[in-house]
Amino acid sequence: MMNLPNFPPERFPPEFERELLRMGLSPDDILRRQKEALDRAREAITGRQSSIEALGRVSDLDKRYQAGERNFSEVDLSGCQYLNRCNLSGADLTDANLSSTGLTYANLSHTNLKGVDLSNAELAWANLAGANLTHAKLCRANLYRANLTGAILTETDLEDANLAGCVMPDGSVHSTAEISDNPLERFKRLAWKPIVEEGDGDLRSSKFGGKPWLGADEGWPLCPNCDNPMRFFLQINLAEIPEVIRSKFGQGILQFFYCTYEKKIEHDHSTPNTSVMSGNWQTGVVHYIEYQSCLDSGPFSLRRLIRIVHADGSPGVFEVPETACKLANSIEGEFPPKQIVAWQTYDEYPDYADYEILCREDVSLSDDYDSYVQAVAKSPEIDKLAGWPLWIQDVEYPTCPTCQQPMNQLVFQLASDDNIPFLWGDVGIGYLLQCPEHTDQITFLSQCG
Ligand SMILES: [Zn+2]
Ligand SMILES: [Zn+2]
Repeated sequence: MMNLPNFPPERFPPEFERELLRMGLSPDDILRRQKEALDRAREAITGRQSSIEALGRVSDLDKRYQAGERNFSEVDLSGCQYLNRCNLSGADLTDANLSSTGLTYANLSHTNLKGVDLSNAELAWANLAGANLTHAKLCRANLYRANLTGAILTETDLEDANLAGCVMPDGSVHSTAEISDNPLERFKRLAWKPIVEEGDGDLRSSKFGGKPWLGADEGWPLCPNCDNPMRFFLQINLAEIPEVIRSKFGQGILQFFYCTYEKKIEHDHSTPNTSVMSGNWQTGVVHYIEYQSCLDSGPFSLRRLIRIVHADGSPGVFEVPETACKLANSIEGEFPPKQIVAWQTYDEYPDYADYEILCREDVSLSDDYDSYVQAVAKSPEIDKLAGWPLWIQDVEYPTCPTCQQPMNQLVFQLASDDNIPFLWGDVGIGYLLQCPEHTDQITFLSQCG
């Protein structure tokens, strides 16, 4: 018997609706999504093998499913984060690419997973009972408390997989001693602190400041808002990041430019203004300076340029332009270049703001702040690759322009005055966030204290 998903209510739960409104969706968008979710679920209930609830997130597969197809062998769902809790029971996924896919709580019982690539996949609490995993790749997969009862593991690659608490094919529980009391263990992510050396490296190297790789026929990026040269903050050569996340963010060299231009406006008032505490009170002339930053600071504003370049061919020859600006909050001149020479890994758990959202989705978690604090140490306020965002304010994942899902994959966090002597507002933090499904959709936002 396959598990059928619960028939969904006509409306989304009110807290989910509020979340969508906060993410900037219009009430019409929400109604449209509700209708689509309902249609998908109706289809799933009449479907025979795999659940459209899971596959409907991927539009191409959705079309194939609508056309009556049930055999999804050799599909590529790698990196897809939306299969958590999906029901794929009994589906044929022979040789499918499911590497780095989020399949937490998924029902994969009696699924044909022969030769499937599940390396780095999230399979915590997944039901794999009776699944055929012959020749499957599960290296570095997270199988925390997954159910493998009766699964076939002939020549399955389980190297470095997390099997803590996993129910093995013979019904025994694997290495119970490794099960942590920390209820957040399954949300653990690896983050990497950049280890830097002073000075600029190769044009293709990972670095803060210095010279980025630019194409032969392109000039230095100018801010479309104010026409001033943008500042070069960060470049990450994605081929040189730690192997476990090497394919996660895309391929090429990720670059981040940001306009820090601040217009200096000098005011002279011939009439003394008592609110301005400078100037010559005898002559009655008050002089003060105001800095106006480049306008438009939303996550999709024009003042930031984030791109992944392929650095093929010969690079352009250029000098880093003087950014003709005075920064009220930072040093003058250019950022002293720092080359990233190594990455130091550490474990991270969700910020409390993210945890509150996880609690809404999973009633087994306690939303009591004290027990959260006991379970998890606050992550440090530093520059880092991957991991969980350290929110200064509330959770703020922009909506992906391609799929309208939250862009909740942290690529890089830029703290104030860590490797770059720049303050994001009042000692805030900047976040480079990516859509987990559309690696070309990367955005930047900052939160201030
Ligand atoms: Zn600008
Ligand atoms: Zn997307």
